[in-house]
Amino acid sequence: MLNVPSQAFPAPSSQQRAASGGRSKVPLKQGRSLMDWIRMTKSGKDLTGLKGRLIEVTEEELKKHNKKADCWICIRGFVYNVSPYMEYHPGGEDELMRAAGADGTDLFDQVHRWVNYESMLKECLVGRMAVKPAVPKGMRLKTQVSDTLAKEGLDSPSYDWFQTDSLVTIVIYTKQKDISLDSVIVDHRDDSFRAETIIKDHSYLIHIGLSHEVEEDFTVRVAENVGKIEISLKKKENTSWKCLGVPLEKHNLLISKKDTGLYYRKCQLVSKEDVTHDTKLFGLMLPASTHLQVPVGQHVYLKVTITGTEIVKPYTPVSHSLLSEFREPVLPNNKYIYFLIKIYPAGLLTPKLDHLQIGDFVSVSGPEGNFKISKLQELEDLILVAAGTGFTPMVKILNYALSNIPSLRKLKLMFFNKTEDDIIWRCQLEKLALEDKRFDVEYILSAPTSEWNGKQGQISPALLSEFLKRSLKNSRVLLCICGPTPFTEQGTRLLYDLYFSKDEIYSFTA
Ligand code: FAD
Ligand code: NAP
Repeated sequence: MLNVPSQAFPAPSSQQRAASGGRSKVPLKQGRSLMDWIRMTKSGKDLTGLKGRLIEVTEEELKKHNKKADCWICIRGFVYNVSPYMEYHPGGEDELMRAAGADGTDLFDQVHRWVNYESMLKECLVGRMAVKPAVPKGMRLKTQVSDTLAKEGLDSPSYDWFQTDSLVTIVIYTKQKDISLDSVIVDHRDDSFRAETIIKDHSYLIHIGLSHEVEEDFTVRVAENVGKIEISLKKKENTSWKCLGVPLEKHNLLISKKDTGLYYRKCQLVSKEDVTHDTKLFGLMLPASTHLQVPVGQHVYLKVTITGTEIVKPYTPVSHSLLSEFREPVLPNNKYIYFLIKIYPAGLLTPKLDHLQIGDFVSVSGPEGNFKISKLQELEDLILVAAGTGFTPMVKILNYALSNIPSLRKLKLMFFNKTEDDIIWRCQLEKLALEDKRFDVEYILSAPTSEWNGKQGQISPALLSEFLKRSLKNSRVLLCICGPTPFTEQGTRLLYDLYFSKDEIYSFTA
C-alpha cells in the first residue's frame, strides 16, 4: 500500500507547492492527490455519465459540454468527460477549462504531452469524435514536413537496404551533419523493427514488420560527416530476402518531435545503491534488441503501473560515477543506464521504484529535452547552479565539459541542499576538485546544523554574485540552472539581473 499522508496536499515543504510564476502546480484539496484519483477510477463509479456506453461525438455536441460540472475535452480524436477529474488536476481547474468543449490536443502537448492521459482518464472516455481529420496531426505527409525542412535549408531523409549472406543492412540517409550515435534509437521486437532518427525538431521513422527472422543483437554505425546511419541485422537463416518487410505505422514519415508519441522499452533493474539517506543510484539494463543513448542534458520518462494505472515521470540519466563516462570510449553497445533518484516517502512513483527488486522491469522512453552539447563548444567558463536532484543533468554536462572542451578554463558547481546529508556524491565532487584544477564546488545549505561553517541560505543575488565571476573579462560563458521549479525560475531571473545574456543561461524546467 502506498502511504499517502492525511495532511493538506502538497505538504508545506513539498516541491509541489505553487510556484511564484509560469505554469505552476496548484495546491490541491485534501483527498485529491493523484493516488486518490487512481482510487476513484477503481471505485466503479460512472465517471462519464453514460453508464459505460461509448458514443460518437460531433463537434456541435462537444461544444455544448463547456462548463465545470459538464466538461468534455477532445485529445487526439478521443473525447473525455473531465468534470470528475477537475479537483485532482495538478495544474488546476482553470487550466483544464481552457480546453472545455473543444480540442485540447495542442494545449495538452504544450503543457505535458508525456502524461499518460489514456491510462489516467480511461474511465472518463466518452467516445471518439465523429469526423476524423483527413490527415491526423502528428502524421503530416512526408512532403509537407519536407517542405518545412526545405524552408530551414534541410534535405528530407530517406532509407535503403542491402544484404549479404549473413547480414541485412538498413541505411538511413539523414543528409545532416550533426548526426551521431545518440541521434538514432533502434528497437527490434519479434519481427517488428523500429528506428527513430532525431533530426532537429523532427523524428524520421523506419518501422517495418521484417520479412524474415533476425538475431536479437545488431550493430549501429554512423558516418557523421555525411549523416549516414547503418544498422546491420544478423539473419537467422542464410536465405536471400526478396523484400525487407511490410511497412508498419508511421513508416518512412518525418514527424514533428512534439507530435511523436513516447515509445517505451522494458529495462531490467541490475543495481540499486544508496547514495544519501534518501537518494539511490538505480542501474537499468537495456534490452539486447535496443540501441538508445541519452544525449547529455536530456531526460527520459519512466513508466510504472500503480494499481492498474500507468504513471509516467521524467528522470535524467547520469553516468555511473563522476568522470566515468567520457574518459573511456563510449561503446556502441553501451547497455546500461543509471539514474540518481530521490525517494519521497509520500510520493506516488518513487516509493514504487524504491521497492523494485533486482531483476524487475521498468519501462523507459526515448530521450527528450532541448539541451544540445553544441552549447558547450568553445566555452571558457561553465557555471552549474543545482538544487537537490537538480544536480542530475549537471552530471553528464560536467563529465563531458571536463573531458571534451579544450578551451574550458573554469567549471564551477554551486550546489544548494538542505543539509550536509543531502549532498549527492560529495566525496566524488571533492576528489574531482582535487584532481582537476579547473573544477570548483561550493555547497550552500538552507537548513545546516550548527557545525556547518560553509555558506548557508537560499539562492540570492549576494550568493550568486560572489560565485559567478568569470575567469577572464568577457569570457565565453554558459550558466546552467536546475532544481525545484520556483528555485530555477527565481535563479534565472537573478542571473539576468546579474547581466548574463539570454544565450548565456540555460534553465532546466519541467
Ligand atoms: P510526488 O507524488 O510527485 O510527490 C512529490 C512531493 O509531494 C513529495 O514531497 C511528497 O512527499 C509530496 N506529496 C505527495 N502526495 C502527497 C499528499 N497526499 N500529501 C502531502 N504531500 C504529498 N527526480 C529525481 O530524483 N532524479 C532525476 O533524475 C529527476 N529528473 C527529472 C527531470 C525532469 C525534466 C523533471 C521535470 C523532474 C525530474 N525529477 C527527478 C523529479 C521526478 O520527475 C519526480 O517529480 C519525483 O521523483 C517525485 O515523484 P513522486 O511521484 O515520487 O512524488
Ligand atoms: P530539496 O531538497 O527540497 O531542495 C534543495 C535546495 O533547494 C534546498 O536548499 C532548498 O531550500 C532549495 N529550494 C527548494 N525550493 C526553493 C525555492 N522555492 N526557492 C529557493 N530555494 C528553494 O530539493 P529536491 O527535493 O531534491 O527537489 C529537486 C527538484 O529538482 C525537483 O522538483 C525535481 O522535479 C527537479 N528536477 C528537475 C530536473 C529537470 O531537468 N527539469 C531534473 C532533476 C530534478 P529550502 O530548504 O529552503 O527549501
